[in-house]
Amino acid sequence: MGRQIVGTSAGPRECGRAMEPIWHIRRRSHDRCPVCGIMLDGSLASIALTTPRGSQAWARCPACRSFFLDERYNLWQEVEHTRTRPWGMIQSGKALGDYKALLFETVLHILRKYAVQGSTLLDVGCSYGGFLQSARKEGYQVRGIEIVPEAVEYVRSQGITCDCAKSVSDLDVPENSQGVISVLDCNYYWPSQMTELRTLSSRLRPDGLLIVRVVDTSWVLRIGLSLGRWFPTAGQRLCTKAVYDHRVSIPVRSFLRIVQQEGFEIVYTSAWDAVPSRQSSLKVKSAYAIGHLVWRITGCSFAPGCVLLARKRAS
Ligand SMILES: [Zn+2]
Repeated sequence: MGRQIVGTSAGPRECGRAMEPIWHIRRRSHDRCPVCGIMLDGSLASIALTTPRGSQAWARCPACRSFFLDERYNLWQEVEHTRTRPWGMIQSGKALGDYKALLFETVLHILRKYAVQGSTLLDVGCSYGGFLQSARKEGYQVRGIEIVPEAVEYVRSQGITCDCAKSVSDLDVPENSQGVISVLDCNYYWPSQMTELRTLSSRLRPDGLLIVRVVDTSWVLRIGLSLGRWFPTAGQRLCTKAVYDHRVSIPVRSFLRIVQQEGFEIVYTSAWDAVPSRQSSLKVKSAYAIGHLVWRITGCSFAPGCVLLARKRAS
């Protein structure tokens, strides 16, 4: 099988000095795509990107077209990294929960139409429990899971059951027991999308609901990589913005397909409902609004993210 080249190191030069290439080729750490699970060619190329985690190798799956961090998942490193981010620290983590009040209200509003009142709700990657507190007020029997021990302690101090674990598969949550599982701004830190989605499906009761807020900046990353061939600095800056500190960058259509493959039917999708906050800038709100319209009219996703609701199919 031929080598898949994601880009070229033959970038332009500036003022006679060699520019740092945006990407190069190195050995892969993944045998399978962490998004769709296909076996990867041993010679798949990687891209070097600068992110808040440092300089990292990323690759692109030829099947689902997702970009992914080409490093093995290490829970300890992930916890240490999260502790440096606003959502990993107590004051800024709680403030972020307040900032996202609009998103939490929107998610609960969507669930009102489909979920059974007072059912169980498990929030995956609950951080300092902002959504759990809103859901509890709505009458759900809530429980959280989070990898940062300090966040877990805080959520417990609020009288909410919370477990410190990297996966729902590590919890004592029985199969077919949950009414709702929420994953808000968390799936892009999972080591394997298929494995986690399969686990969530098994823990949901028949007809149980999965609600996810996903970020899709894979199209921005594609633009950044193309731009980087001619304008390396601008291209790298755009790539950094697109990847942020995530482990994967998944086209939303690919994510929807994988959700369906893992035993769900898609009930509802909306890019507009993914606006994170009332305080979001006009530029951000416009990006979601335009992306929402383009998606509805053309079926192409150019929004920065979306909210999707899926129901577990009866087996
Ligand atoms: Zn893939």
